[in-house]
Amino acid sequence: MRTVDFRSDTVTLPTPAMREAMYKAEVGDDVYREDPSIRALEELAADITGKEAGLFMPSGTMGNQVAILTHTKKGDEVICEAEAHVYYYEVGGLVTLAGVQPRTIAAPRGILTAAAIAPAIRADDIHQPPTTLICLENTHNRAGGTCYSLPILQDIHELAKQRKIAIHMDGARLFNAATAQKTTARDIAQYADSIQFCVSKGLCAPVGSLLVGRRDFIDRARRYRKMLGGGMRQAGVLAAAGIVALTQMIDRLAEDHGNAAYLAEAIANCGFGIDLTTVETNIVIFDVSPLTLHIEQFVRDLNARGVKANQFGAAKVRMVTHQGISRDDVDYAISVLAELAK
Ligand SMILES: *Cc1c(COP(=O)(O)O)cnc(C)c1O
Repeated sequence: MRTVDFRSDTVTLPTPAMREAMYKAEVGDDVYREDPSIRALEELAADITGKEAGLFMPSGTMGNQVAILTHTKKGDEVICEAEAHVYYYEVGGLVTLAGVQPRTIAAPRGILTAAAIAPAIRADDIHQPPTTLICLENTHNRAGGTCYSLPILQDIHELAKQRKIAIHMDGARLFNAATAQKTTARDIAQYADSIQFCVSKGLCAPVGSLLVGRRDFIDRARRYRKMLGGGMRQAGVLAAAGIVALTQMIDRLAEDHGNAAYLAEAIANCGFGIDLTTVETNIVIFDVSPLTLHIEQFVRDLNARGVKANQFGAAKVRMVTHQGISRDDVDYAISVLAELAK
């Protein structure tokens, strides 16, 4: 049976060029800073985002948590969107590791604005925890891959600068955001002090994320990465795939976005509930309740026909397009969805 895996872009496999680069990678002990492939990837990551330095991370979660640890002190307050990955999906790490208190703000489409953030910034008052960090998620995963426009980022950056608060961007899908906004990672990155982005998702590398920022920030982050057990040795074999991800795989993301828009339109035509304006990148979230379908059964029926997708909340399904999914695969999924919608 044909199977098409829409569960996540994390299911992408390393490309033949990555396998080749991994095989040939020069490596060394990176805790001694002696792995040339890791150093090259870190420099490339810094260059592509216009930052001073980069740090290779085993995962996006560690990248975000190390960033929060590095930006804050225990007892600080951190502003993030109500369904932000750093708050929702990182096992409460910001509380247990950094000892900070999250201040969540629910925002339409997951996109915070300066106007939404300003009232949540704490006053200089002995009763209140200091606000020291704003986390922005770009693209926003649970909101359906929505992204920040540059003017909104510029306003938030202006506010943060005035109030002396740092900005960390969870840019797990930063290059999807840049593609959708027809801009560059560097133009987006200028509005954040630090950014985490994944090479393991739509960019197809097997493992890894990069944290980028100022050199002194990255020097301190390197110590926290070591503390959490993320000091790796001959991980240049992984970094080599990351270099291929950043040099060969960014330009094709537009294809995933085209497939997601095409899929979303067909889903709307079948009568499912979907807000097409949230489908800006490679994530499609839709609601089965307008068709009075039972969600668990619906997802089982999809899977039984080889269309792998994840249930998302009480009545929704999430489908993610990526390098392993062709237009023909999307057409197949649409035929299955249309059959189940009837
Ligand atoms: C996937 C993801 C992460 C974490 O990445 P892992 O490598 O799975 O730890 C962080 N933030 C967002 C928005 C993500 O989608």
